[in-house]
Amino acid sequence: MPSLSVILPAYNEEAMLPKTARVLAQILEGEKIDYELVFVDDGSRDLTWSEILTAHQANDRVHGVHFSRNFGKEAAIFAGLAAAKGNCAAVMDCDLQHPPQTLVQMYRLWQQGYEVIEGVKKSRGKESSAHRAAAGMFYSLMSRATKIDMSRASDFKLLDRRAVNTLLDMPEQNAFFRAMSAWIGFRQTQVEFDVQEREAGVSKWSTRKLIRYAISNIAGYSTAPMQCVTWAGVAFLAFAVILGIQTLIRYFTGHAVEGFTTVILLVLLTGSIIMISLGVIGYYLARIYEEAKRRPRYIVSRSI
Ligand code: UDP
Ligand code: MG
Repeated sequence: MPSLSVILPAYNEEAMLPKTARVLAQILEGEKIDYELVFVDDGSRDLTWSEILTAHQANDRVHGVHFSRNFGKEAAIFAGLAAAKGNCAAVMDCDLQHPPQTLVQMYRLWQQGYEVIEGVKKSRGKESSAHRAAAGMFYSLMSRATKIDMSRASDFKLLDRRAVNTLLDMPEQNAFFRAMSAWIGFRQTQVEFDVQEREAGVSKWSTRKLIRYAISNIAGYSTAPMQCVTWAGVAFLAFAVILGIQTLIRYFTGHAVEGFTTVILLVLLTGSIIMISLGVIGYYLARIYEEAKRRPRYIVSRSI
């Protein structure tokens, strides 16, 4: 049983994978850490899986899990946690954007008795200002929902076996690793790191994918959008009472025919608020349905 399992979700990472495997092995061997590398091929369409097989031939501490299709990074992380045999498990990106030296630092903290060691971003690396603003908004919402500061959170973490088992016991389908690992508690600490630049390959997150991911995680951790509907209703009721009184006064003082504008505006406004509200309720209902189906989070087609 190795003491450290490193979990690396990989989606179309043929360009980076051999180097990542080599660099990590070299550094961990240099530090005399008993390790295993668990690559989770998230249904890649390129040669990622055969690169994992090649890496396994060169180094039998390299293991691999292959998904039947692309299930997303969250699913890949959980598959890696399930496959990991170590006394502690670290999750890091397969593109070396998470510095391996920080991994060593995390491992030393684990040896000192910490159970959840979180990597926090000192700098966010290169990204557009629109992306930065959107990420800022998402994290402030998420921080409020989970009551944990997540503005600099990342998926780069090291967890003790106890924390890993706790996470694996959590049954939800729509898992959000970053929030769950903070939510479980245990002895937590943080390590700062600078996000490195990606050397090869491209980012696997399109803007659309990121927006979908953000909405799904907000809904997974907060029912605030549903409560917004109630508040909109209350605000609207107050508005309706004032307008109702005004209409009645106009009626009794004999100025009733005007006010067509008000009617049109009111119809439009109520209509749109009702539709938005139904949409929000429908979204949560859909999620309940997803959870109720109890499908597996991922399907493993091969492993080594
Ligand atoms: N990844 C994955 N499945 C996906 C998308 C990404 O397993 O559907 C992995 C990817 O291979 C990488 C990590 O998640 O190891 C982070 O992805 P990426 O580097 O593309 O994101 P960025 O660093 O640009 O945020
Ligand atoms: Mg990356």
